Amino acid sequence: MKQRIAVVVALCSIVAPAWAQSSDTVLLNGKILTVDDQFATREALAIHEGKIAALGSTAEIKKLARPGSRVIDLKGRTVIPGLIDSHMHAIRAALSFATEVNWIGAPSLAEAVGRIHEASRTMRPGAWLIVAGGWNVQQFKEKRRPSQAELLAAAPNNPVYVQLGYGWVMMTPAALKALNIASDADLPMGGKLDRDANGNLTGGITGGNNAIVALFDKLPKPNFEEQVEGTRKFFRELNRLGLTGVVDPGGNNLEPQDYQALFHVWRQGQMTLRVAYSLCGQTPGAEFAELKGLTQLLPMGFGDDMLRFNGLGERITAAMNNNNKPSDADKEKYYEIARWAAGRGMSLTMHWTNDESVDQLLTIFERVNKETPITGLRWSIAHLNNASAVSLRRMKALGVGWTVQDALYFAGEQVQSTPAVRRQPPVETAKEIGVPVGAGTDAHRVASYNPFTALQWFLDGKTVSGVALRGPEETPGRADALRFYTIGSAWFSHDEDKRGSLTVGKLADLAVLSKDYMSVPVEEVGGIESLLTMVGGKVVYAAGPYAVLEERRQAESR
Ligand SMILES: [Zn+2]
Repeated sequence: MKQRIAVVVALCSIVAPAWAQSSDTVLLNGKILTVDDQFATREALAIHEGKIAALGSTAEIKKLARPGSRVIDLKGRTVIPGLIDSHMHAIRAALSFATEVNWIGAPSLAEAVGRIHEASRTMRPGAWLIVAGGWNVQQFKEKRRPSQAELLAAAPNNPVYVQLGYGWVMMTPAALKALNIASDADLPMGGKLDRDANGNLTGGITGGNNAIVALFDKLPKPNFEEQVEGTRKFFRELNRLGLTGVVDPGGNNLEPQDYQALFHVWRQGQMTLRVAYSLCGQTPGAEFAELKGLTQLLPMGFGDDMLRFNGLGERITAAMNNNNKPSDADKEKYYEIARWAAGRGMSLTMHWTNDESVDQLLTIFERVNKETPITGLRWSIAHLNNASAVSLRRMKALGVGWTVQDALYFAGEQVQSTPAVRRQPPVETAKEIGVPVGAGTDAHRVASYNPFTALQWFLDGKTVSGVALRGPEETPGRADALRFYTIGSAWFSHDEDKRGSLTVGKLADLAVLSKDYMSVPVEEVGGIESLLTMVGGKVVYAAGPYAVLEERRQAESR
């Protein structure tokens, strides 16, 4: 009899999950927004071996701590699931983060130019100082672009290059000389040197998307060590803002060999951000052969929880990229690739900006779906700010999701508040129709990567200079906006069962916030930061009251 009891006890201890008895980390006395189906709030949370072991009251969770457990007192602070940007060019941004100057969030041109001056003192002498985008004139109290004289004064001994979106660049004389640019003929096709009223060159360059992309390509690239350092630094910068994951859609100026720095950081076990990445077609006309080659040994979903292959996009063929009037041949070529991707169970995300022409794309998706169902493959459309209910219903029928970015936060300055703009982007309609919505920024060339800037914009629809464009009919509540940025985005990398909310069994990806997202005045949402960010229960960023955890983190990674 005694023996039998012993056997039963032994069985119990095997069957009962370890988390029921103990946990290596507990977070107590907080306001934990679980973002579960009920949007429930809990006081405390226990983590064991990287996953959420239990949620409950402080008294309940305290009992799960054992000697040696890490006990974190939240002191009433708000905790959210780690934020996930469903459309950020993070791999590209990371490559140059250690060698670029960042104007994101600078409130004045004076401060922005000051950052150039600061960089001229900290970077190696003669280094290029490059601002690659992510800023807008309206964020500056001066409401204007920098002049060449200002940049020259800030960094007289460095070549300086400042890019605004994909339409304008300012370079100092040393930068122009280094790239041998003296006349329009020296610029990529479509580029033009700006002249002042007297016909003198200003150092400014205007051009279309392609001209500016080609110009940027002429800049010296960071070397491999700088790319690796940039990747680590950029991911940590995102951790500082509560991000624990991104879905990366490739992009311009990003070639297959440019992924090596990311792969290096992953091999070293130094990823602090979960990355799901897709591949773009590269060479116009040769995309199908390229994508077949690149994915021959790369099945959909290949990777691990830190780095995973997530299919194709956001550019499939150059011919269908930003083309509202593709030819029949362009569409046929696209269809062949899409059909092939569906047959291999791949996800596909597609950049499309105009609802007026999105029928071209949806018709192809529908054609593919008739032969190979795509409804379970999580295809998606990015941008499409003026999506109509008709298009959204077609997307819903195909199981196609929608990634929404805060493009109008910057770009909205150029548009008037019209009835059409009042409903852009129509996230409430999408929710009603049942289209999966993920939030994000499209950083870092055309937008800031700060998720709280984007969350504030979701909530108030105001541009960077405070112009209210969106109406209440398409404005989500705080809970829904947070859903878009967490569980909503997780859908796009097939991860909503693993992360995106704080429920038992999920990965312990979370952020302790500097302010309460739910109750702070809406204009303060954009200023929220993380004080403590965890990925899989591991501290990846800690500051302020949790600075001691940051010291421990650094000691451990040494
Ligand atoms: Zn795009």
